[in-house]
Amino acid sequence: VELDIQVRQAKGRTTVVLAGVIDETSAEALSAAFLRVEAILEINFRGISRINSYGIGLLMKHFGQLSRSHRIEFVECSATIVDQFQMLDFSMYGRIGSFFIRYYCARCGAEEDRLLQVGEDISAEKAPPDFVCDCGGRLEVDEALDFLAEHL
Ligand SMILES: [Zn+2]
Repeated sequence: VELDIQVRQAKGRTTVVLAGVIDETSAEALSAAFLRVEAILEINFRGISRINSYGIGLLMKHFGQLSRSHRIEFVECSATIVDQFQMLDFSMYGRIGSFFIRYYCARCGAEEDRLLQVGEDISAEKAPPDFVCDCGGRLEVDEALDFLAEHL
């Protein structure tokens, strides 16, 4: 199985931690994972390294159904998932709680992915923070953040 799914149930909250690849082979495992869901559904995308259009379709089908009766939060969205958010509007299904975004240092060319918390590190009033690079330069966000507009 290329997709690893861990489901944690707590009172009022179901956390589904996804890792690996979401594609044609993921349908049954995803259906099983979303069978019993508490009022708040937290999807942790930290470990997702690849997703194809079929996988996106699977997620949209589940989130479309679940979002009618549940609150969905997307957390620790990997770069792969952020790429999808850049193209597809997931704000109709749920809210992004945290995500990885590419930072770049113009001085030495270093790149690194940083985890930002929506509402803390970045908000409607607050631009994403810069970080100090090992070279002494400044690491700045190197990707468009338009996808966040509906989530701030
Ligand atoms: Zn640098």
